[in-house]
Amino acid sequence: MKHACKEVSKLASDSLDRPLSFFERLKFKLHLSMCGHCRDFDSNITLIHNITEMMHATDYGQTRLSEQQRKRLHDSLNSSIE
Ligand SMILES: [Zn+2]
Repeated sequence: MKHACKEVSKLASDSLDRPLSFFERLKFKLHLSMCGHCRDFDSNITLIHNITEMMHATDYGQTRLSEQQRKRLHDSLNSSIE
């Protein structure tokens, strides 16, 4: 794995836990636009993360997803179909 890819895959998993800074997002989007490997990686971990969140929500008896969860799930499903 190239150094840039390693950095970007770290940003992808970081972005699930905290908001990325402007420059981090810029670097991330720029790299994704030219690297199919990282695009796949990003959509896969986002999807897995969202499914995990949904399962947790069900565990705790919350049948309704929050607006943010719905939006994220929607976005990740769209990006994996494209
Ligand atoms: Zn890459």
